[in-house]
Amino acid sequence: MKITFLGGTDSVGRSAILVESEGTKLILDYGVALNHIPGFPAHIPPKDIDGIILTHAHLDHTGAAPYFYVSRRIPLYLSSLTLEYTDLLLKDFLRLSGYYLPFETIEVENMISSARIMEPGMDFEIGDFNVRFLNSGHIPGSVQVILEDSSGLRLLYTGDINDIDTRLLKGADLDYGKIDVAIMEATYAGEEHPERAKLEKEFIEDVYNILDNNGKVLIPAFSVGRAHEILCILSAYNIEYPVYIDGMAVKAGEILLKHSSKLRDSGLFKKAWGMADWPSGWKDRKNILKKPCVIVSPAGMLKGGMAVFYMERLMGKHENGIFLVSYQIPGTPGDILLKTGKFMVKGKAKQVKAKVKHFDFSSHAGHSGLVRIIEKIGKDAQIFLMHGEPDKMVKLQNLVEEKGYRCMRADILKTYEVS
Ligand SMILES: [Zn+2]
Ligand SMILES: [Zn+2]
Repeated sequence: MKITFLGGTDSVGRSAILVESEGTKLILDYGVALNHIPGFPAHIPPKDIDGIILTHAHLDHTGAAPYFYVSRRIPLYLSSLTLEYTDLLLKDFLRLSGYYLPFETIEVENMISSARIMEPGMDFEIGDFNVRFLNSGHIPGSVQVILEDSSGLRLLYTGDINDIDTRLLKGADLDYGKIDVAIMEATYAGEEHPERAKLEKEFIEDVYNILDNNGKVLIPAFSVGRAHEILCILSAYNIEYPVYIDGMAVKAGEILLKHSSKLRDSGLFKKAWGMADWPSGWKDRKNILKKPCVIVSPAGMLKGGMAVFYMERLMGKHENGIFLVSYQIPGTPGDILLKTGKFMVKGKAKQVKAKVKHFDFSSHAGHSGLVRIIEKIGKDAQIFLMHGEPDKMVKLQNLVEEKGYRCMRADILKTYEVS
Protein backbone atom coordinates (compact mmCIF):
# COMPACT_ATOMS: atom_id res chain seq x y z
CA MET A 1 0.00 0.00 0.00
CA LYS A 2 1.28 3.47 -0.89
CA ILE A 3 0.09 6.69 0.74
CA THR A 4 0.72 10.18 -0.61
CA PHE A 5 -0.48 13.28 1.23
CA LEU A 6 -1.73 15.82 -1.33
CA GLY A 7 -2.61 18.53 1.19
CA GLY A 8 -3.61 19.29 4.77
CA THR A 9 -0.38 18.11 6.42
CA ASP A 10 0.51 21.34 8.22
CA SER A 11 -2.80 23.15 8.68
CA VAL A 12 -6.58 22.83 8.70
CA GLY A 13 -7.45 23.03 5.02
CA ARG A 14 -7.19 21.16 1.71
CA SER A 15 -7.23 17.68 3.28
CA ALA A 16 -6.43 15.23 0.47
CA ILE A 17 -4.79 11.79 0.45
CA LEU A 18 -4.00 9.33 -2.34
CA VAL A 19 -3.95 5.63 -1.35
CA GLU A 20 -2.73 3.07 -3.89
CA SER A 21 -2.63 -0.71 -4.04
CA GLU A 22 -1.20 -2.56 -7.04
CA GLY A 23 -4.38 -2.20 -9.05
CA THR A 24 -6.44 0.56 -7.38
CA LYS A 25 -6.04 4.27 -6.71
CA LEU A 26 -8.32 5.98 -4.22
CA ILE A 27 -8.67 9.58 -3.11
CA LEU A 28 -9.64 10.17 0.54
CA ASP A 29 -11.13 13.69 0.74
CA TYR A 30 -10.17 16.49 -1.64
CA GLY A 31 -10.73 19.80 0.10
CA VAL A 32 -9.76 23.44 -0.15
CA ALA A 33 -7.96 25.86 2.15
CA LEU A 34 -10.50 28.53 2.97
CA ASN A 35 -8.47 31.68 2.53
CA HIS A 36 -9.64 34.77 0.67
CA ILE A 37 -8.58 32.92 -2.48
CA PRO A 38 -9.25 29.18 -2.03
CA GLY A 39 -6.10 27.00 -1.91
CA PHE A 40 -6.09 23.61 -3.64
CA PRO A 41 -4.38 20.27 -2.93
CA ALA A 42 -1.78 18.79 -5.30
CA HIS A 43 -3.15 17.78 -8.67
CA ILE A 44 -3.78 14.15 -9.67
CA PRO A 45 -4.95 13.29 -13.21
CA PRO A 46 -8.61 12.14 -12.98
CA LYS A 47 -7.96 9.29 -15.45
CA ASP A 48 -5.77 7.56 -12.82
CA ILE A 49 -8.43 7.49 -10.09
CA ASP A 50 -10.76 4.54 -9.36
CA GLY A 51 -12.81 6.10 -6.61
CA ILE A 52 -13.20 9.09 -4.31
CA ILE A 53 -14.28 8.83 -0.68
CA LEU A 54 -15.55 11.92 1.16
CA THR A 55 -15.60 11.63 4.96
CA HIS A 56 -17.88 14.63 5.57
CA ALA A 57 -19.30 17.73 3.94
CA HIS A 58 -16.97 20.46 5.25
CA LEU A 59 -15.27 22.30 2.39
CA ASP A 60 -11.77 21.63 3.75
CA HIS A 61 -12.55 17.98 2.82
CA THR A 62 -14.77 18.37 -0.27
CA GLY A 63 -14.23 21.80 -1.83
CA ALA A 64 -11.84 20.69 -4.59
CA ALA A 65 -13.47 17.32 -5.40
CA PRO A 66 -15.66 18.58 -8.31
CA TYR A 67 -12.40 19.23 -10.15
CA PHE A 68 -12.26 15.45 -10.83
CA TYR A 69 -15.60 15.66 -12.66
CA VAL A 70 -14.63 18.02 -15.48
CA SER A 71 -13.83 15.18 -17.87
CA ARG A 72 -14.82 11.94 -16.13
CA ARG A 73 -17.38 10.40 -13.80
CA ILE A 74 -15.48 8.73 -11.00
CA PRO A 75 -17.50 6.75 -8.43
CA LEU A 76 -17.99 8.86 -5.31
CA TYR A 77 -18.48 7.06 -1.98
CA LEU A 78 -20.08 8.93 0.90
CA SER A 79 -22.96 8.79 3.39
CA SER A 80 -26.42 10.03 2.38
CA LEU A 81 -26.23 13.02 4.74
CA THR A 82 -22.76 13.93 3.49
CA LEU A 83 -24.10 13.82 -0.06
CA GLU A 84 -26.95 16.24 0.67
CA TYR A 85 -24.78 18.57 2.73
CA THR A 86 -21.94 18.50 0.19
CA ASP A 87 -24.37 19.49 -2.56
CA LEU A 88 -25.67 22.37 -0.39
CA LEU A 89 -22.23 23.63 0.69
CA LEU A 90 -20.55 23.31 -2.73
CA LYS A 91 -23.31 25.27 -4.45
CA ASP A 92 -23.01 27.97 -1.78
CA PHE A 93 -19.21 27.92 -2.27
CA LEU A 94 -19.73 28.46 -6.02
CA ARG A 95 -22.03 31.41 -5.30
CA LEU A 96 -19.47 33.05 -2.98
CA SER A 97 -16.13 32.09 -4.58
CA GLY A 98 -17.03 30.79 -8.05
CA TYR A 99 -14.68 33.27 -9.70
CA TYR A 100 -11.66 31.49 -8.17
CA LEU A 101 -12.79 27.91 -8.76
CA PRO A 102 -11.75 25.65 -11.66
CA PHE A 103 -15.25 24.11 -11.88
CA GLU A 104 -18.88 25.17 -12.20
CA THR A 105 -22.33 23.91 -11.19
CA ILE A 106 -22.28 21.26 -13.94
CA GLU A 107 -19.20 19.59 -12.40
CA VAL A 108 -20.83 19.64 -8.95
CA GLU A 109 -23.90 18.02 -10.49
CA ASN A 110 -21.79 15.39 -12.30
CA MET A 111 -20.12 14.64 -9.00
CA ILE A 112 -23.38 14.38 -7.05
CA SER A 113 -24.85 12.05 -9.69
CA SER A 114 -21.76 9.79 -9.39
CA ALA A 115 -22.54 9.09 -5.73
CA ARG A 116 -22.74 5.59 -4.29
CA ILE A 117 -24.28 5.96 -0.86
CA MET A 118 -22.63 3.99 1.95
CA GLU A 119 -23.56 4.35 5.60
CA PRO A 120 -21.51 3.72 8.77
CA GLY A 121 -21.24 -0.01 9.49
CA MET A 122 -21.53 -1.06 5.83
CA ASP A 123 -18.72 -3.01 4.11
CA PHE A 124 -18.13 -2.54 0.38
CA GLU A 125 -15.43 -2.97 -2.24
CA ILE A 126 -13.55 -0.50 -4.43
CA GLY A 127 -11.13 -2.38 -6.70
CA ASP A 128 -8.61 -4.22 -4.49
CA PHE A 129 -9.85 -2.58 -1.30
CA ASN A 130 -12.45 -3.67 1.20
CA VAL A 131 -13.90 -0.52 2.69
CA ARG A 132 -15.81 0.13 5.90
CA PHE A 133 -17.26 3.41 7.18
CA LEU A 134 -17.45 4.11 10.92
CA ASN A 135 -19.24 6.99 12.64
CA SER A 136 -16.76 9.80 13.42
CA GLY A 137 -18.96 11.93 15.71
CA HIS A 138 -17.84 15.20 14.06
CA ILE A 139 -20.86 16.52 12.12
CA PRO A 140 -24.06 14.82 10.92
CA GLY A 141 -23.11 12.24 8.27
CA SER A 142 -19.37 12.26 9.05
CA VAL A 143 -17.45 8.98 8.88
CA GLN A 144 -14.04 7.44 9.44
CA VAL A 145 -12.77 5.02 6.79
CA ILE A 146 -11.04 1.64 7.13
CA LEU A 147 -9.39 0.31 3.96
CA GLU A 148 -8.17 -3.29 3.82
CA ASP A 149 -6.01 -4.42 0.89
CA SER A 150 -5.77 -7.94 -0.54
CA SER A 151 -2.86 -8.78 1.80
CA GLY A 152 -4.97 -7.94 4.85
CA LEU A 153 -3.18 -4.66 5.61
CA ARG A 154 -5.63 -2.30 7.32
CA LEU A 155 -5.56 1.49 7.08
CA LEU A 156 -7.66 3.81 9.22
CA TYR A 157 -8.38 7.41 8.17
CA THR A 158 -10.21 9.26 10.95
CA GLY A 159 -11.28 12.25 8.85
CA ASP A 160 -12.37 14.86 11.39
CA ILE A 161 -13.27 13.12 14.63
CA ASN A 162 -14.92 13.77 17.99
CA ASP A 163 -14.84 11.02 20.57
CA ILE A 164 -17.32 12.52 23.03
CA ASP A 165 -21.12 12.58 22.81
CA THR A 166 -22.67 15.93 21.97
CA ARG A 167 -26.39 16.80 22.07
CA LEU A 168 -26.67 16.06 18.34
CA LEU A 169 -24.30 13.14 17.79
CA LYS A 170 -22.86 10.08 19.44
CA GLY A 171 -19.10 10.12 19.92
CA ALA A 172 -16.94 8.35 17.31
CA ASP A 173 -16.96 4.56 16.98
CA LEU A 174 -13.48 3.50 18.13
CA ASP A 175 -14.04 -0.22 17.63
CA TYR A 176 -11.32 -0.52 14.99
CA GLY A 177 -9.95 -4.03 15.31
CA LYS A 178 -6.32 -4.47 14.20
CA ILE A 179 -4.92 -1.36 12.50
CA ASP A 180 -1.59 -1.28 10.62
CA VAL A 181 -1.57 2.32 9.41
CA ALA A 182 -3.58 5.23 10.74
CA ILE A 183 -4.00 8.75 9.40
CA MET A 184 -5.55 11.02 11.98
CA GLU A 185 -6.56 14.62 12.36
CA ALA A 186 -4.87 16.57 15.14
CA THR A 187 -6.67 19.94 15.14
CA TYR A 188 -6.60 20.21 18.95
CA ALA A 189 -3.30 18.46 19.68
CA GLY A 190 -1.96 20.00 22.91
CA GLU A 191 -5.26 21.75 23.73
CA GLU A 192 -8.17 20.67 25.90
CA HIS A 193 -11.82 21.65 25.61
CA PRO A 194 -13.81 22.68 28.68
CA GLU A 195 -16.01 19.99 30.17
CA ARG A 196 -19.20 19.89 28.06
CA ALA A 197 -21.91 19.87 30.76
CA LYS A 198 -20.23 22.80 32.57
CA LEU A 199 -19.88 24.73 29.33
CA GLU A 200 -23.56 24.23 28.46
CA LYS A 201 -24.61 25.52 31.90
CA GLU A 202 -22.43 28.61 31.60
CA PHE A 203 -23.78 29.25 28.09
CA ILE A 204 -27.43 28.96 29.16
CA GLU A 205 -26.80 31.26 32.16
CA ASP A 206 -25.23 33.88 29.92
CA VAL A 207 -28.07 33.60 27.39
CA TYR A 208 -30.64 34.15 30.20
CA ASN A 209 -28.68 37.09 31.62
CA ILE A 210 -29.08 38.89 28.29
CA LEU A 211 -32.72 37.91 27.68
CA ASP A 212 -33.90 38.72 31.23
CA ASN A 213 -32.42 42.20 30.84
CA ASN A 214 -34.42 42.86 27.68
CA GLY A 215 -31.57 42.05 25.28
CA LYS A 216 -31.26 39.84 22.23
CA VAL A 217 -28.65 37.15 21.68
CA LEU A 218 -27.07 36.53 18.30
CA ILE A 219 -25.31 33.17 17.97
CA PRO A 220 -23.35 33.05 14.70
CA ALA A 221 -23.02 29.33 13.89
CA PHE A 222 -22.09 27.07 10.98
CA SER A 223 -25.15 26.01 9.02
CA VAL A 224 -24.23 22.31 9.11
CA GLY A 225 -24.01 20.83 12.60
CA ARG A 226 -23.22 23.64 15.03
CA ALA A 227 -26.41 25.67 14.49
CA HIS A 228 -28.48 22.56 15.25
CA GLU A 229 -26.33 21.54 18.20
CA ILE A 230 -27.04 24.97 19.72
CA LEU A 231 -30.79 24.58 19.06
CA CYS A 232 -30.67 21.20 20.85
CA ILE A 233 -28.90 22.74 23.86
CA LEU A 234 -31.45 25.58 24.07
CA SER A 235 -34.26 23.04 23.78
CA ALA A 236 -32.75 20.65 26.35
CA TYR A 237 -32.82 23.55 28.85
CA ASN A 238 -36.40 24.47 27.80
CA ILE A 239 -35.51 28.05 26.99
CA GLU A 240 -38.53 30.28 27.63
CA TYR A 241 -37.91 32.94 24.99
CA PRO A 242 -38.44 32.87 21.21
CA VAL A 243 -35.62 31.13 19.31
CA TYR A 244 -35.06 31.89 15.63
CA ILE A 245 -32.86 30.22 13.08
CA ASP A 246 -31.95 31.86 9.78
CA GLY A 247 -29.90 31.62 6.59
CA MET A 248 -28.68 28.26 5.26
CA ALA A 249 -29.11 26.69 8.71
CA VAL A 250 -32.85 26.46 7.89
CA LYS A 251 -32.30 24.34 4.77
CA ALA A 252 -29.60 22.30 6.53
CA GLY A 253 -32.03 21.67 9.42
CA GLU A 254 -34.76 20.49 7.04
CA ILE A 255 -32.28 17.98 5.61
CA LEU A 256 -31.37 16.85 9.13
CA LEU A 257 -35.03 16.36 10.02
CA LYS A 258 -35.32 13.80 7.18
CA HIS A 259 -32.32 11.95 8.65
CA SER A 260 -33.11 12.46 12.33
CA SER A 261 -32.93 8.71 13.03
CA LYS A 262 -29.15 9.00 12.55
CA LEU A 263 -28.83 11.45 15.43
CA ARG A 264 -28.04 10.57 19.03
CA ASP A 265 -31.50 11.65 20.21
CA SER A 266 -33.93 12.22 17.34
CA GLY A 267 -36.66 13.25 19.81
CA LEU A 268 -34.53 16.10 21.15
CA PHE A 269 -33.76 17.36 17.64
CA LYS A 270 -37.43 17.22 16.64
CA LYS A 271 -38.37 19.11 19.81
CA ALA A 272 -35.63 21.70 19.12
CA TRP A 273 -36.77 22.10 15.52
CA GLY A 274 -40.39 22.47 16.64
CA MET A 275 -39.34 25.15 19.15
CA ALA A 276 -37.43 27.22 16.58
CA ASP A 277 -39.01 29.56 14.08
CA TRP A 278 -37.55 31.33 11.08
CA PRO A 279 -38.34 34.73 9.61
CA SER A 280 -40.30 34.71 6.37
CA GLY A 281 -38.60 37.77 4.89
CA TRP A 282 -36.86 41.07 5.57
CA LYS A 283 -39.85 42.68 7.28
CA ASP A 284 -40.12 39.69 9.59
CA ARG A 285 -36.38 39.87 10.35
CA LYS A 286 -36.78 43.46 11.56
CA ASN A 287 -39.91 42.55 13.55
CA ILE A 288 -38.32 39.73 15.53
CA LEU A 289 -35.70 42.18 16.79
CA LYS A 290 -38.33 44.17 18.69
CA LYS A 291 -38.45 41.69 21.62
CA PRO A 292 -35.90 39.63 23.59
CA CYS A 293 -35.01 36.53 21.58
CA VAL A 294 -32.20 34.21 20.50
CA ILE A 295 -31.12 34.16 16.83
CA VAL A 296 -28.93 31.32 15.54
CA SER A 297 -27.56 32.06 12.08
CA PRO A 298 -24.55 31.43 9.81
CA ALA A 299 -21.85 32.41 9.10
CA GLY A 300 -20.15 31.01 12.20
CA MET A 301 -17.19 33.42 11.93
CA LEU A 302 -19.36 36.40 10.90
CA LYS A 303 -17.88 36.23 7.41
CA GLY A 304 -21.11 37.09 5.57
CA GLY A 305 -24.49 35.38 5.70
CA MET A 306 -27.55 36.52 7.66
CA ALA A 307 -25.49 36.71 10.87
CA VAL A 308 -23.98 39.97 9.57
CA PHE A 309 -27.44 41.52 9.11
CA TYR A 310 -28.27 40.78 12.76
CA MET A 311 -24.79 41.74 13.97
CA GLU A 312 -25.07 45.22 12.48
CA ARG A 313 -28.41 45.75 14.24
CA LEU A 314 -27.50 44.28 17.65
CA MET A 315 -23.85 45.28 18.16
CA GLY A 316 -24.55 48.91 19.19
CA LYS A 317 -26.46 48.17 22.43
CA HIS A 318 -24.96 47.05 25.74
CA GLU A 319 -27.93 44.86 26.65
CA ASN A 320 -27.44 42.53 23.64
CA GLY A 321 -25.10 39.52 23.39
CA ILE A 322 -22.98 38.17 20.54
CA PHE A 323 -22.00 34.61 21.46
CA LEU A 324 -19.51 32.89 19.19
CA VAL A 325 -19.70 29.11 19.48
CA SER A 326 -16.91 27.77 17.28
CA TYR A 327 -13.23 28.13 16.56
CA GLN A 328 -12.52 31.47 14.82
CA ILE A 329 -9.87 31.20 12.09
CA PRO A 330 -7.28 33.99 12.59
CA GLY A 331 -8.13 37.02 10.48
CA THR A 332 -11.86 36.31 10.18
CA PRO A 333 -14.32 38.98 11.43
CA GLY A 334 -15.18 36.73 14.41
CA ASP A 335 -11.52 36.43 15.40
CA ILE A 336 -10.97 40.19 15.04
CA LEU A 337 -14.10 40.82 17.14
CA LEU A 338 -12.78 38.61 19.97
CA LYS A 339 -9.34 40.21 19.90
CA THR A 340 -10.25 43.90 19.39
CA GLY A 341 -13.95 44.22 20.26
CA LYS A 342 -14.48 45.78 16.83
CA PHE A 343 -16.54 44.84 13.77
CA MET A 344 -16.33 46.26 10.25
CA VAL A 345 -19.49 48.02 9.09
CA LYS A 346 -19.44 49.46 5.56
CA GLY A 347 -15.64 49.44 5.49
CA LYS A 348 -15.20 51.08 8.93
CA ALA A 349 -14.12 49.31 12.14
CA LYS A 350 -16.75 50.06 14.80
CA GLN A 351 -16.61 49.39 18.54
CA VAL A 352 -19.08 46.67 19.55
CA LYS A 353 -21.08 47.62 22.67
CA ALA A 354 -22.94 44.31 23.00
CA LYS A 355 -21.44 41.65 25.27
CA VAL A 356 -19.12 39.45 23.18
CA LYS A 357 -18.20 35.98 24.42
CA HIS A 358 -16.71 32.80 23.02
CA PHE A 359 -17.91 29.29 23.95
CA ASP A 360 -15.79 26.33 22.88
CA PHE A 361 -18.49 23.93 21.57
CA SER A 362 -15.95 22.09 19.45
CA SER A 363 -16.77 19.15 17.17
CA HIS A 364 -13.15 17.92 17.21
CA ALA A 365 -11.54 15.70 19.84
CA GLY A 366 -9.44 17.66 22.34
CA HIS A 367 -5.90 16.58 23.28
CA SER A 368 -6.91 13.78 25.67
CA GLY A 369 -9.50 12.59 23.14
CA LEU A 370 -6.74 12.30 20.53
CA VAL A 371 -4.64 10.32 23.01
CA ARG A 372 -7.61 7.99 23.69
CA ILE A 373 -8.02 7.45 19.92
CA ILE A 374 -4.29 6.66 19.57
CA GLU A 375 -4.57 4.14 22.43
CA LYS A 376 -7.42 2.44 20.53
CA ILE A 377 -5.37 2.37 17.31
CA GLY A 378 -2.59 0.58 19.18
CA LYS A 379 1.19 0.31 19.28
CA ASP A 380 1.51 -1.89 16.18
CA ALA A 381 0.26 0.82 13.83
CA GLN A 382 2.25 3.52 12.07
CA ILE A 383 0.32 6.70 12.85
CA PHE A 384 0.45 9.81 10.65
CA LEU A 385 -0.82 13.13 12.02
CA MET A 386 -2.33 15.80 9.75
CA HIS A 387 -5.01 18.56 9.82
CA GLY A 388 -3.33 20.57 12.59
CA GLU A 389 -0.65 23.13 13.39
CA PRO A 390 2.91 21.70 13.19
CA ASP A 391 4.12 22.79 16.66
CA LYS A 392 1.02 21.42 18.35
CA MET A 393 1.22 18.15 16.42
CA VAL A 394 4.85 17.75 17.51
CA LYS A 395 3.76 17.99 21.17
CA LEU A 396 1.27 15.16 20.71
CA GLN A 397 3.78 13.13 18.70
CA ASN A 398 6.48 13.44 21.38
CA LEU A 399 4.08 12.58 24.16
CA VAL A 400 2.74 9.38 22.59
CA GLU A 401 6.17 8.32 21.28
CA GLU A 402 7.37 8.30 24.89
CA LYS A 403 4.58 5.83 25.63
CA GLY A 404 5.75 3.54 22.81
CA TYR A 405 3.42 4.51 19.95
CA ARG A 406 4.79 4.93 16.41
CA CYS A 407 3.63 8.41 15.53
CA MET A 408 4.87 10.99 13.02
CA ARG A 409 3.73 14.08 11.17
CA ALA A 410 2.78 13.47 7.55
CA ASP A 411 4.91 15.25 4.95
CA ILE A 412 3.30 16.84 1.94
CA LEU A 413 3.82 15.03 -1.40
CA LYS A 414 6.02 12.35 0.12
CA THR A 415 4.94 8.80 -0.76
CA TYR A 416 5.03 6.37 2.15
CA GLU A 417 5.14 2.69 1.36
CA VAL A 418 3.63 0.45 4.02
CA SER A 419 3.58 -3.34 4.07
ZN1 LIG B 1 -14.81 19.01 9.49
ZN1 LIG C 1 -11.52 19.44 8.60
